Amino acid sequence: MALNFTLLFFTALLAGGMAYFIPNWEERLFKLVLVFAGSYLFAITVLHILPELFVESVSPTRMGLYILLGFLLQQILALLSTGVEHGHIHHPSHVHQGANLGVWTIMIGLFMHAFLEGTLLSHDGALMHHMHDHGDHGHHHHHHGNNNLLFGILLHKGPEAFALVAVLMTALKKRWVFVLLVVFALASPLGMLLSNFLYESKLLGGETLNVFYGMVAGGFLHISTTIFFESSPDHRFHFNKVLVSILAFGLAISLEMLL
Ligand SMILES: [Zn+2]
Ligand SMILES: [Zn+2]
Repeated sequence: MALNFTLLFFTALLAGGMAYFIPNWEERLFKLVLVFAGSYLFAITVLHILPELFVESVSPTRMGLYILLGFLLQQILALLSTGVEHGHIHHPSHVHQGANLGVWTIMIGLFMHAFLEGTLLSHDGALMHHMHDHGDHGHHHHHHGNNNLLFGILLHKGPEAFALVAVLMTALKKRWVFVLLVVFALASPLGMLLSNFLYESKLLGGETLNVFYGMVAGGFLHISTTIFFESSPDHRFHFNKVLVSILAFGLAISLEMLL
């Protein structure tokens, strides 16, 4: 748990710091990193998270509903955040209510998304809870791949933090950008710790956690597919991006089998 906390926090801080210290970053390079991270997120969602949620679920249809709910929630959060979590870099003043309100809504939308995302990592990959509920069965297939889940989330955290800083830099003084970066970097670790604490102290039941997991999975589907769409808005074939996607899928599949 402490390791997850540290990794989540410093990945966000480091990636955000890059946008902070390299103001003249190469946009093309960022786009490729974004596509890689988005493809990886899509791959672990489809290969790891969804299968495990459905297999472990008492009611797969209900799980499907949670996923749809998460997709819709992410749609709303993306309105607030102007799409920072899928690497969309807008100037906050494009938000009509004025730049400061823009910064607030971005932070609220992004914080809620990142907080929710963190719940997925509670208790070493969370999905193990059900195993305890049902007794011994299923012990064998639960200890694999949680590292891959963590890796995928860390990969996604990078461009997310980078995009946040790039957006904030256009509206705020550097000092404030740094403060907000730290606030954002704490969101996922806090979500992880709080959901873990609530579960361990029995304030949160397994079914409620399932709602969270389903919603995070739905959010991941939204974010990763949006990255695909926005990476070629002109519907032209971008060989580099397809290649990067294939590499990300390949790596996700390999690590899923190895870890
Ligand atoms: Zn967007
Ligand atoms: Zn995120």
